[in-house]
Amino acid sequence: MNSPERVIIGNDEFVPLFTEEQIQNRIKALAAQISLEYKSSVPVFIGVLNGSFLFMSDLIRYLDINCEIDFFKLSSYGDAKISTGNVKLLKELNCEVNDRDIIIVEDIVDTGLSLKYIEELFSEKSPNSMKVVSLLVKPGSLKYDVKIDYIGFRIPDKFVIGYGLDFAQKYRNLRGIYVLNT
Ligand code: 5GP
Repeated sequence: MNSPERVIIGNDEFVPLFTEEQIQNRIKALAAQISLEYKSSVPVFIGVLNGSFLFMSDLIRYLDINCEIDFFKLSSYGDAKISTGNVKLLKELNCEVNDRDIIIVEDIVDTGLSLKYIEELFSEKSPNSMKVVSLLVKPGSLKYDVKIDYIGFRIPDKFVIGYGLDFAQKYRNLRGIYVLNT
C-alpha cells in the first residue's frame, strides 16, 4: 500500500510524482539550509494542519539546531479537489510567538489564499521574524502575492495526494507523492 505504482480513486488515476527517497533528500537539503540560517536562534516551527504533519516531523528531525513546534488548523477544501475560496481558523496556536523567530510549515501552496490569511494572522502577533517553508508550490496557480522563503518542489497545477496530502481525508499515509493523471 505504501509505495504503489498507481492509486485508483473512483474514475481517477494517480501516478508517482516524487518517491519517498526524492522527498527525504529534498527535506534534508532544506533542513541543512534552515539550520545554517538559524544557528544563533531557537525558531518556532508552526505547522498548518492537517497536511503538514509528516513534512514537519521529518524536517525537524533533520535539523541540527534547537527548535520548538506548534500547530494550528485552517479549514480545507472539504472533499473537493478545488479551493472554495474561504479560509477559517479551526484550531488556534497554543504557543506565544511575540518576539520569536517563526517558520510557518506548509504542505502545499496552491492559490496562496491560505498563506495570505496566515501572513495577516501572524503579523498581528508581532513575531521577531517570520519565514515560510512549503514542501510543494504550484506556481501556475498562485493568485495572491505571498512570500515563500524555502520551497521543496515546484509542481504543475494538478491535484496531488500522499505524504500528508489527502483526498477526502484519505491517502495521507502514502510515502510518496502522487499526481492526478489527466
Ligand atoms: P491555497 O489556499 O494555497 O489555495 O491552498 C492551500 C491548501 O489547499 C493546502 O494547504 C492544501 O490543504 C490544499 N491543497 C491545495 N492543492 C492541493 C492538492 O493538489 N492536493 C491536496 N491534497 N490538497 C491541496
